[in-house]
Amino acid sequence: MNKPFERRGLATDLAAIVGEGNVSVRQADKIAYSRDMWPKAQIWVHQGDSCRYPPDCIVWPHSVEQVQQLLSFCHERRIPIIPYGAGSGVCGGTIPIRGGVIIDLKALNRVLHIDDRALTVEAESGIIGQHLEMELERRGYTLGHFPSSIYCSTLGGWLAARSAGQYSSKYGKIEDMVSRLEVVLPGGQLFTTPRVPAPLGGVDWNQLFVGSEGCLGVITTSVLKMHPAPIKRSFRGFTFPSVREGTEGIRTVMQAGLTPCLLRLYDPFDSLIAYQSDAAALSADQALQSLIKALTSSGPKSTPKRRATRFGDWQRALKKQAVRMILSRPSMLNMAVERLSERCLMVIGFEGTSEHVDDSDALATGLLAARGARDLGPEPGRHWYEHRYAISYKQSPLYAVGAFVDTMEVASTWDRLLPMYAAVKRAVAPYGFIMAHFSHAYTEGCSIYFTFAACDSDPQALEERYDRLWGAGLRAVVEQSGTISHHHGVGMSKAHFMTNEYGDGVSLFAGLKKMLDPHGIMNPGKLWPDAELIDAGVELAGATRGE
Ligand SMILES: Cc1cc2nc3c(=O)[nH]c(=O)nc-3n(C[C@H](O)[C@H](O)[C@H](O)COP(=O)(O)OP(=O)(O)OC[C@H]3O[C@@H](n4cnc5c(N)ncnc54)[C@H](O)[C@@H]3O)c2cc1C
Repeated sequence: MNKPFERRGLATDLAAIVGEGNVSVRQADKIAYSRDMWPKAQIWVHQGDSCRYPPDCIVWPHSVEQVQQLLSFCHERRIPIIPYGAGSGVCGGTIPIRGGVIIDLKALNRVLHIDDRALTVEAESGIIGQHLEMELERRGYTLGHFPSSIYCSTLGGWLAARSAGQYSSKYGKIEDMVSRLEVVLPGGQLFTTPRVPAPLGGVDWNQLFVGSEGCLGVITTSVLKMHPAPIKRSFRGFTFPSVREGTEGIRTVMQAGLTPCLLRLYDPFDSLIAYQSDAAALSADQALQSLIKALTSSGPKSTPKRRATRFGDWQRALKKQAVRMILSRPSMLNMAVERLSERCLMVIGFEGTSEHVDDSDALATGLLAARGARDLGPEPGRHWYEHRYAISYKQSPLYAVGAFVDTMEVASTWDRLLPMYAAVKRAVAPYGFIMAHFSHAYTEGCSIYFTFAACDSDPQALEERYDRLWGAGLRAVVEQSGTISHHHGVGMSKAHFMTNEYGDGVSLFAGLKKMLDPHGIMNPGKLWPDAELIDAGVELAGATRGE
């Protein structure tokens, strides 16, 4: 049971801070802000539960001072606060499980300063990623951060969830780009990290808040490194005889000191989805190719003619039925995929000066050929570049047939990467269809990005299957000493596995939380489960011990 906080007059009090037009208690807004892009929340909607955790109010502050006043007000009244960027998080990071106030930061969206000498940009947290990149591009620069969600995520969300862009192997993840932060602490104080290119001696204060998922404060402004816009970009595709040889190819390239902007290896089935035009070369059988089309297309377009529409309806119904049938029996499909050719597609790309790109491309081609790769030329890379943001938006048709799709991004060192890949596939196979690609490479190791899909005609059973699938997958990762989150964050979905990964880290985090957020107003239920924090002596606004 939630510990009640005083709700009477809340909207009026908040309006006194941000102005009447910037507070909402409308039901439509409460529904929209009751979840993010966590697929489990999408399953709740299919169960007919479209607003499981409504916030009490949503506010849109327009200045840092207003954010300070909001936090100070909620701190005094013990009201939960949920910082909100664009809600593109996929782990339930913005779900207001204890009600409270959603602070949507999108009105804080200015680029404040571009420093041509230091090569840094200072911007407010609510700016949408693509808008920031467009502004930099206009001035001849790039941030080098291109998550697939760049059109629908914010700078603050990237920082709070430790985001990685598609070009992270060259530019790093968001935590590698940050050089200064301004954070409003839960009592309303403004904390600014020093204005220097690198951390001073002692604790790196930036990294204390990067990845804190709104649990320690609200990031309002940041200074980030930027780069001159590339003059040339080139991509190339290769096939490898197997995942083993392909991952050895990635390791060889990274350890040779090359800095590819893109370096990605698809496992055999993901290779077919990633690059359907080379499907024949990768020898899929006909049935699997049809499945790929069914899984990745949004269905026939309707036409104005009645007969054609009827035919379209019939086709759509048939396709729905086929996808349902296939995804309800994932073991069969997973077994069929195991019989595929083991060949895998790699796409690699370089950007920068002409000379850098040409030299790197030649060197990488030589290294990969020596590892048994077949050069497919620039076409697969061009195909990837043109579709680089498309695949993530193709999931809705699957939800429409009563299925779910989700992704799990984990990482490990080279010695444990393939055992982890095999263990996760084995663990998940009974519950859902699974495929993966390897990306975000380092000299020490690499990330694996698994995609799952499963179906059940009963929405309740679908949720249970979802939980079992995730439980089995994350357990396998922990057993193989991998990390449970490379760049999507922890949110609610992985919170229960944090102790498995960090051991007694919960008591350190609890100490920090008690000091910075003594009434526990900041984003309850995220990073670590409430129960574990409460047991460690943390007060959590809206929560009671022994729930
Ligand atoms: C189609 C799609 C593709 C995606 N591709 C990628 C990808 O390539 N790489 C990647 O890293 N992620 C990806 N994601 C996940 C998601 O976009 C990232 O997690 C992103 O960082 C979230 O940004 P947001 O602004 O939407 O944050 P939100 O979802 O609004 O919030 C995420 C978390 O950050 C906290 N938060 C937000 N703003 C602040 C702030 N200013 N101060 C303090 N806390 C804050 C929230 O409370 C929450 O805990 C994808 C998601 C989708 C839907």
